[in-house]
Amino acid sequence: MRKKIIAGNWKMNMTPTEAVKLCETLKPLVKNEDVDVVFCVPAIDIIPVAEAVKGTNINVGAENLYFEDKGAYTGEVSADMLLDAGVKYVIMGHSERREYFHETDADINKKLKKALEKGLIPIVCCGESLEQREQGICFDFVRMQLKIAFQGVSAEDAKKVVIAYEPIWAIGTGKTATADQAEEVCKAIRDLLTELYGSDTAEAIRIQYGGSMNAGNCKELLAKPNIDGGLIGGASLKPDFGSIVNYNK
Ligand code: PEP
Repeated sequence: MRKKIIAGNWKMNMTPTEAVKLCETLKPLVKNEDVDVVFCVPAIDIIPVAEAVKGTNINVGAENLYFEDKGAYTGEVSADMLLDAGVKYVIMGHSERREYFHETDADINKKLKKALEKGLIPIVCCGESLEQREQGICFDFVRMQLKIAFQGVSAEDAKKVVIAYEPIWAIGTGKTATADQAEEVCKAIRDLLTELYGSDTAEAIRIQYGGSMNAGNCKELLAKPNIDGGLIGGASLKPDFGSIVNYNK
């Protein structure tokens, strides 16, 4: 039985002061022992957020990492820096980073291997554009993204990874994939993982849906057999996030 994982992606929102205030608001709302709860926050908010959520069920996540250990990479943040600051999870391959910062599948493969080597839990994002969906290449595209991301990753390590299926057309648009559309792709992802690693490993890997998930639509999405959680953007900054975490109450 896979434990559900609900992660907020704060994106480039919240100053350190605002971040601590948001933690105080959300702390009492996100208690649910059936769910792993993660706040993925901007790099500058990691230390104050880690302090603010100490002793609670909230895990701290980062929104990115760099795949080198240290050195002349101005502006980047390493796995060791994240770990030392109290981070447990790290998002990689978000469509916004792919689009605006030109992250490639090969970069994501390096980030995935580095995170696993260091003991961070990767949340690997994938998902098609509207054009790709309309061209009928959604499954091929997502399979390609994940096949490259997982190149050289052992089955034992793959089990630790969380995958977030996020159709780009549903992110921040208010346009959610229907529960059936989301389940269809999450099932295809599980089938790919079975091809790559066998069914024991594929059944252990958690697959989230992301794209305008909110308090109103989360129940139906999270009831699907291959949807093991959510990656939440806009709604993670509001008390709504508490309702999503408590979808089963
Ligand atoms: C996201 O950025 O990962 C996301 C799913 O955003 P939103 O929930 O706002 O669509």
